[in-house]
Amino acid sequence: MKSVDEHLAEILATVRPLAPLELELEQALGTTLAEEVSSPVPLPPFDNSAMDGYAVRVADISDVPVTLPVIDDVAAGSDELRAVGPGHAVRIMTGAPLPAGADTVVPVEWTDGGTVSVTINRSAGEGNAIRRAGEDVKAGQAVLEPGTVIRPAQLGIIAGVGRRRVWVRPRPRIVVLSTGAELVEPGLPLGLGQIWDSNSFTLTAAVREAGGEGFRAGTVGDDPAVFLEQLDSHLVRADAIITSGGVSMGAYEPVKEALTPLGTVRFEKVAMQPGMPQGFGVVGDDQVPIFALPGNPVSSFVSFMLFVRPALDKMRGLPAGPPATETAYVTTPVRSPAGRRSYLRGVLAADGTVAPVRGQGSHQLAALASANALVTVPEDVTELPAGSAVEVIRL
Ligand code: AMP
Ligand code: MG
Repeated sequence: MKSVDEHLAEILATVRPLAPLELELEQALGTTLAEEVSSPVPLPPFDNSAMDGYAVRVADISDVPVTLPVIDDVAAGSDELRAVGPGHAVRIMTGAPLPAGADTVVPVEWTDGGTVSVTINRSAGEGNAIRRAGEDVKAGQAVLEPGTVIRPAQLGIIAGVGRRRVWVRPRPRIVVLSTGAELVEPGLPLGLGQIWDSNSFTLTAAVREAGGEGFRAGTVGDDPAVFLEQLDSHLVRADAIITSGGVSMGAYEPVKEALTPLGTVRFEKVAMQPGMPQGFGVVGDDQVPIFALPGNPVSSFVSFMLFVRPALDKMRGLPAGPPATETAYVTTPVRSPAGRRSYLRGVLAADGTVAPVRGQGSHQLAALASANALVTVPEDVTELPAGSAVEVIRL
C-alpha cells in the first residue's frame, strides 16, 4: 500500500499553480496576489486632521482659556484653504486638509465649540491630532507582496492606493460530481435502497472554505459511459475535478471503470482509515487534475482534507503541504488497524484533550458533524491508552 505522505507528494508534484490574470477588485476576494502592489502617492496624501476641532498655532494657545476668532471652516474634501494667521483659528473636521500656518489641532471637546469665535480650555502640543502625509505609506512603497491572499483588508489597501484591477492567481474552479445509482437529491423522496446525496454538498462547501470556487455538478448513476459524458461536459470550466464514489473493489465502480483505460488516472490503496481507495491523475487535453475520492461520506471528507486541500493551496500559489497538526491528549483508549494511519473523529477541548466521538464508521456522517478535529494514529500504532499524546488536525 502507498503511504498517505507518498500519495500527497505525488499529487503536489502533479498540480500546478494557476496562471495569473488581471481581475477587477470586486472579483479579487480570496485570490492570491501575483504582483507587488505599491502606492503611487504617499498615504495619507496630505497632512490632515485626525479629529473634529480647531486648527491653530501652538503659540496662541499656551495660556488657556483663550478666545480666538474662527476665520474659516474646513470639511473633509475642502480644497480652498485659508492660512491660519497668528491669533486665528480654523474650524476643521476629521480628514480635512490642514491649512497652512496651523501646527496643531485642538479637539472640539476641549473647546466651547464656537463658530464665530472659539474658547479653547486646554492647550495642545505641536502636531496634536494631525495625520502627516506619508505616515502610513511613502510614495512608491510596496504595500503588498506577491503570494498574499487577498482578504478584506488587503482589498482595502489595493483600492486605497488607487487600483481598480489587480494581477492575481484566481480561486481554483473545482467541479464536484457524485456517483452512485442509489443517490437521490435532498428534498426528493427516498425509495427503497436509496440515500440522499450528501458528498457533493460537503465537498463543494469544503472547496469554498479552502479558497476555491466549488461547482456542484450533482449526481450521476453507475454507468461508466454516462459518467464519462458528464465529466467531459464539465472539463471546460474546471481547474480540477472531484468525484465521489465508484472507486472501490466491487462491481459497479463507474469512476474506476471509466478512467482506468485512459491510463492517466491511477487507482490505488492508500494506507489510511478511513479512505483507503483513492484515485488521482489528469484527464482531458488540458490535463485537468482529477481527485477520485471514495464514496463513504467520512472517507471522502477526510480525503479532501488530506489531499485536495493541499492541492488547492498549490493551485492558489500558496505554500502547500500536509494539514497542520497540534498535540492533544485522548480522553479514552483508541484502536487503529496495523499498517494504516487512522484519522479518528474527535472533539478537541480548550484544555488540550480530545474525545473520540461515538461512531467511527466511515459512513457515520452525523458523528463527523459532531467532531471538530481528526485524531491521527500512526501506521505502526494499534492501540493507545487514555491520556496518550496524539497529533490532531483541527477541522
Ligand atoms: P462507493 O465508494 O461508491 O462504493 O460508495 C461507498 C458508500 O458510500 C456506499 O454506502 C454509498 O452509498 C455511499 N455513498 C456514495 N456516494 C455518496 C454520496 N454522494 N452521498 C452519500 N453517501 C454516498
Ligand atoms: Mg458507488
